[in-house]
Amino acid sequence: MIRKLFNKIFKPRLTKSTRSNLESQPTETALSRTSNRSALNVKSNRKKTVDKHNNYRDSATVIPFKTHQIDRSLLSNAALKTIDGLQKAGFDAYIVGGAVRDLLLNRHPKDFDVATDATPEEINRVFRRSRIIGRRFRLVHVLFGDETIEVSTFRGHHETKGDAQTNESGRIIRDNIFGSLEEDATRRDFTINAMYYDPTSQEVLDFHHGFADIQTGVLRMIGKPETRYAEDPVRMLRAVRLSAKLGLTIEPATMSPIAKMADLLQDVPPSRLFDEMLKLFLSGHAVESVSVLRAQHLHHGLLPMLDVVLEQPMGERFVMLALENTDTRILSGKSANPSFLFATLLWHEVLTAWETYKTEAPPIPALHSAMNEVIATQAEKLAIHNRFTATMKEIWGMQPRFEQRTGKRPFALLTHPRYRAGYDFLLLRCESGEVHAELGEWWTAFANADAETKTSMLQTDTAPKKRRKKPRKKPSSNVGTS
Ligand code: ATP
Ligand code: MG
Repeated sequence: MIRKLFNKIFKPRLTKSTRSNLESQPTETALSRTSNRSALNVKSNRKKTVDKHNNYRDSATVIPFKTHQIDRSLLSNAALKTIDGLQKAGFDAYIVGGAVRDLLLNRHPKDFDVATDATPEEINRVFRRSRIIGRRFRLVHVLFGDETIEVSTFRGHHETKGDAQTNESGRIIRDNIFGSLEEDATRRDFTINAMYYDPTSQEVLDFHHGFADIQTGVLRMIGKPETRYAEDPVRMLRAVRLSAKLGLTIEPATMSPIAKMADLLQDVPPSRLFDEMLKLFLSGHAVESVSVLRAQHLHHGLLPMLDVVLEQPMGERFVMLALENTDTRILSGKSANPSFLFATLLWHEVLTAWETYKTEAPPIPALHSAMNEVIATQAEKLAIHNRFTATMKEIWGMQPRFEQRTGKRPFALLTHPRYRAGYDFLLLRCESGEVHAELGEWWTAFANADAETKTSMLQTDTAPKKRRKKPRKKPSSNVGTS
């Protein structure tokens, strides 16, 4: 009786298919924690996983530990716990994608993704601290401390089953069809991104010869590249970014359609383009990535106006210097501020617009009009988040203030919360030859000087003093009364 009541209160409502699996999670449900039966279930669930695993041996190459030698100590604890939880509940679960690729390349993975045959709801039930997210792809975020593991359900072929939608150009707009592990592998982009690592058996399942491609340093699209780019044009950017970041050669058939299909990027939602651009610029290999983008004419659709900027020698020098700087910072483990980066990418466009506005307005209001115009034009193609555009405007807005080296103004500028970013931006302008190096040197010295030296460094104000208008005399009240 008590047990029945206990079940009613604590046991989640389960579907028939998941009931037996979920009963067996010793760490997650109150009942199973104490039940001997659950220990047996865990064992049998593990066995089920091994059996399923064996099913893939026909279609995948199974790479044993002695061949891949993935160092288990490089795996995140959270990823291991996620896989353990799912496997104990009777589901298939693997580390997948970029993490397996990076481990095989002896790199530290940036993050760990897990793929499973459990549906989002089932995953959600296995982990108390988890939530279902996303629309285009429904995923589950499983939280362990401050680490989040993204868990996705194996996806199926969108051509064959019901819930996927494509637009006229073949781009997939909604895609929530679940499938087998094998189908999931085929839907991934590159062969090296379609390997599945089971930390329990320490085996890697390789469906598309990704392991061989890793060893020869080749980035190869799964399936027909033209079709895959049409389904998702962002894959073109991923090809460029991953090859630059990982030092891989893009295989000819994967490379050749890119230049022809570059225009399809116009179709991609601005927010998605922004996320991908951010990854590209902050990969530590931005200079190389941008060079390949230009060679493939991909930059036209990316940052509207970036192509224009890169075509002016001064603009190109400035952008390339900024990207070199960012790469150096990232590769030495420092962070890079996206606002600063986007401010540099668009600065020469702001300068051009500013010149035009100056013909009809004073310099500062003209600068503000120019900044707004550039941001607005950008926003049509690339949704730079508001929190970034606000800082970009601050950095740009500070630039004319560096020209003012008289009176109290330089002291006020030093206290600006974004002074450091504005100053770094100024130094880049000096380095690119846009403004005289002396200006940057002055600010470096000024910021580091003591109060007395600072005052002695100020320039004398030679600008004509504004004359105050004399207040007009009020007409005397007794006019005409005498
Ligand atoms: P990074 O090192 O930048 O994280 P990644 O390959 O892990 O690279 P993610 O965006 O984290 O990139 O994607 C995880 C995995 O999802 C990829 O390895 C790939 O298998 C798959 N994937 C991501 N984007 C696409 C896409 N546009 N088309 C097909 N598969 C994709
Ligand atoms: Mg990743």
